[in-house]
Amino acid sequence: MTSLSQQPPDVRPLEGRTSQDWAHELRNAIRNPHVLCDELRISRDLADSAASVNSNFQILVPRPFLARMEPGNQDDPLLLQVLPQANENIAREGFTGDPVGDLAATRLPGLLHKYNGRALLIASPTCAVHCRYCFRKEFPYQETPKGSEAWQPAIEEISADDSISEIILSGGDPLMLVDATLSKIIHSLEAIPHIMRLRIHTRLPIVIPQRVTDRLVNLLKATRLITVMVIHSNHTNELDSMVARQLDIIQATGTLLLNQSVLLRGVNDSLAAQISLSKRLIEIGVLPYYLHQLDRVTGTAHFDTKRQVGLNLIAEMRKQLPGYMVPRYVIEEAGKPHKTLLA
Ligand SMILES: *Cc1c(COP(=O)(O)O)cnc(C)c1O
Ligand code: SF4
Repeated sequence: MTSLSQQPPDVRPLEGRTSQDWAHELRNAIRNPHVLCDELRISRDLADSAASVNSNFQILVPRPFLARMEPGNQDDPLLLQVLPQANENIAREGFTGDPVGDLAATRLPGLLHKYNGRALLIASPTCAVHCRYCFRKEFPYQETPKGSEAWQPAIEEISADDSISEIILSGGDPLMLVDATLSKIIHSLEAIPHIMRLRIHTRLPIVIPQRVTDRLVNLLKATRLITVMVIHSNHTNELDSMVARQLDIIQATGTLLLNQSVLLRGVNDSLAAQISLSKRLIEIGVLPYYLHQLDRVTGTAHFDTKRQVGLNLIAEMRKQLPGYMVPRYVIEEAGKPHKTLLA
């Protein structure tokens, strides 16, 4: 038997990652469906169809994410999440611009306060990937504050309300902010005595793992706040060894890692896909937190699954897996005091 201590796990940072690395990946991201289909060697007809989609939410796929797709497979679960489909243009009853009631929960521009004790900042209007099923696809980002100065009114509002103990940085993706801006926002939050926890909702460590810079790691290490990072991964193929290594580095800062995913038809609506995702998450130190029923945003009906599908999946997972590997299956309903637990 080989000793476990013979091979220490390789958790060294990727040689001093700086903002230049991820900025480079962002600039290099694919913004053209024909380039995407050519790189994957799949039919240009799919690209023609993607190009016909009438949306302000353009295709955006960073290359580290592309590298985890299978060439020649037009049903690749990662590809399906990012390739626009002609049926995005089909209006469907019950699919609207703001199904989750974000606008009604807006206290100040960029500050959402829906749930007891937690307030959410729309810290960045942009993302590093455009997920076609995105629940904030239609969010009026032009009204949210830009730059750390512009956040002053929201910071004052939070300071004046001592019922808030946790701030969630969301977006868009809050890690689209450069570390200097992020650092200023975190420092203003740290200065508010009743703020105890900082939560970051982000997909960046998945789609551009180089985003885990030394400076970000140091920020998480140094803050007095309890830190929680909720990543967003829908499929086991997203979680390759580079993602795992970067998440190890985050975890070493004392940050609790959780995952949220969305139940998506054709992507992860099978028992095998869900079990594999949960096992892989635990393997890399991330607890499966939420499995979301799709929010019914305009143009996403082709991803929708029946609730019974999710209920059956969870029931079966509960039979087969340890309890901590089974995410909470939830739906967000406008006006409710918490997310609604379906199973
Ligand atoms: C989901 C959500 C939260 C966080 O909810 P938890 O159940 O604590 O994960 C907070 N604010 C808003 C606006 C949300 O949509
Ligand atoms: S990363 Fe999140 S906010 Fe950004 S497009 Fe994807 S689902 Fe939407």
